[in-house]
Amino acid sequence: MSDEIRIGIIICDRYRGCAGGKCLRALNNREGAFSIYNDKEVKLVGYTACGGCPGGNIEYAPEEMKKNGVDVIHLATGLIVGYPPCPRITQFRDVIKTKYGLDVVIGTHPIPQNYYDTHTALGTWKSSKWKEIIQPTLADENIRLLYD
Ligand code: SF4
Repeated sequence: MSDEIRIGIIICDRYRGCAGGKCLRALNNREGAFSIYNDKEVKLVGYTACGGCPGGNIEYAPEEMKKNGVDVIHLATGLIVGYPPCPRITQFRDVIKTKYGLDVVIGTHPIPQNYYDTHTALGTWKSSKWKEIIQPTLADENIRLLYD
């Protein structure tokens, strides 16, 4: 991997009309799951949706991103916060890692506070599996409020 990290973002198809505002803001500010890049150079080389349940584009989109030199694929925060969260999220991570040999990070921008409140009330993220999944995008309340 060079000094410049090339990333791709795959969003949940429920939000396919999304212009990527929160993801790109978080990328520029190195917030949420992008905080791991800190002072590193990052270039966005791909952005697409999963293709709709059950996520058929997961099988193909990483290949195109790989041709563009992608190092890390981020599964967008929408997969975590949607109602319900994507039930295939860890399968997507595992297939991209195994089939394409790429690093995968679950999450992009910080979890917005309104989603945090609702999922907390629903108990969505109570399991140890989900606690681990939300960790990179959990942030603190002040940051979450900025993403409402
Ligand atoms: S819930 Fe999962 S499989 Fe369904 S559209 Fe969203 S990301 Fe794709």
